[in-house]
Amino acid sequence: MSGFHTLDSADLKGKRVLVRVDLNVPMENGHVSDATRIDRILPTLREIISKGGKAILLSHFGRPKNGPDDANSLKPVAGVLAQHLGRPVAFAPDCVGKAADSAIQHMANGDVLLLENTRFHKGEEKNDPALVQQMAALGDLYVNDAFSSAHRAHASTEGLAHKMPAYAGRTMQAEIEALSKALEKPARPVGAVVGGAKISSKLELLGNLTKKVDFLIIGGGMANTFLAAQGKKVGKSLCENDLLDTAREIMKNAAANKCQIVLPTDAVVAKEFKAHAHSHVVSVDHVGDDEMILDAGPRSVAEVEAVLTAIKTLVWNGPFGAFEIEPFDAATNAVARTAARLTVEGKLLSVAGGGDTVSALNHAGVAEQFTYVSTAGGAFLEWLEGKHLPGVEALRA
Ligand code: AMP
Repeated sequence: MSGFHTLDSADLKGKRVLVRVDLNVPMENGHVSDATRIDRILPTLREIISKGGKAILLSHFGRPKNGPDDANSLKPVAGVLAQHLGRPVAFAPDCVGKAADSAIQHMANGDVLLLENTRFHKGEEKNDPALVQQMAALGDLYVNDAFSSAHRAHASTEGLAHKMPAYAGRTMQAEIEALSKALEKPARPVGAVVGGAKISSKLELLGNLTKKVDFLIIGGGMANTFLAAQGKKVGKSLCENDLLDTAREIMKNAAANKCQIVLPTDAVVAKEFKAHAHSHVVSVDHVGDDEMILDAGPRSVAEVEAVLTAIKTLVWNGPFGAFEIEPFDAATNAVARTAARLTVEGKLLSVAGGGDTVSALNHAGVAEQFTYVSTAGGAFLEWLEGKHLPGVEALRA
């Protein structure tokens, strides 16, 4: 990967390797409920182990406010990581100082040690040089494999990269490569699906995409605001009436940039927001006053699928409808399956990301068939917004 040092060029044997990972995994009743993030770091850890490095893991966990507390300890995660890795993972009750130092002294080549939550120190989120210095003293080189934390300039995500030889881990590398192919040097035409609830949370993203993509396919609740901005009646649908001018502005900018906005032309409407509510399909010109749009209709799906067959690159964030409740998952499922099929056939490069998007693609059963699915939430969205991510920038060679 040009522009970044990767593990290909790292001399790891016998080295103390500080690895920034994202072990901020969801927990339910003290158990890890989704181990995706753990599995994502395994390639980097296995490579460090097999090359004889000592893997010393740094991660944040939750949002502790006043120093150490049991509820935000990474200790329970060490055992789960060990199971997934298939070898022991030691734990040190602090990420700097004597506790960390002595645990590291006991490491043999190929050992793995997890240090306690970096956010137990106030200096982490302040990117405090004193904390950076203390962390840097523990290792010989730094590997960042936490793309999902790269939008934050914290001590362990950014500061450290300036203090020691810095490398992108394998997951970080895959993420940067996938996102570069999707937005920086994409095969054209390129299309973006932006769905989800509201425009307000995705204003910058929409603004950036109208400059970069040839087709901007808008779905979900946010499409209602665009339809309303075109003078259509959207009944009781989710709609941000204070953003109609903003929606018009986005459409104007898109036209100026030769970006075609694709909006739904029909919709699945219901009178209640609940699973299996009585629903029917209407043209977006005929939504009743007491109805809400909860999904895109079959004609809209066909129109989106026609765009997918015309483009070479797809970026996807956000569902087409209220996909968590049946049958309002139909459009998201159908379009996701078509994108997956085109990807498998080698006709489309597809990159998706953002919290709800990953669960929507998992729900459709096709996440594995996309070219790349990012598990990063905020970092993925900031990348789509065109922002530089401090944790990525700091790794540039
Ligand atoms: P976001 O986090 O912005 O990607 O929004 C995802 C959420 O948008 C999901 O929980 C969906 O249920 C919701 N959503 C999508 N379309 C609609 C709609 N037409 N009406 C209400 N909620 C929707």
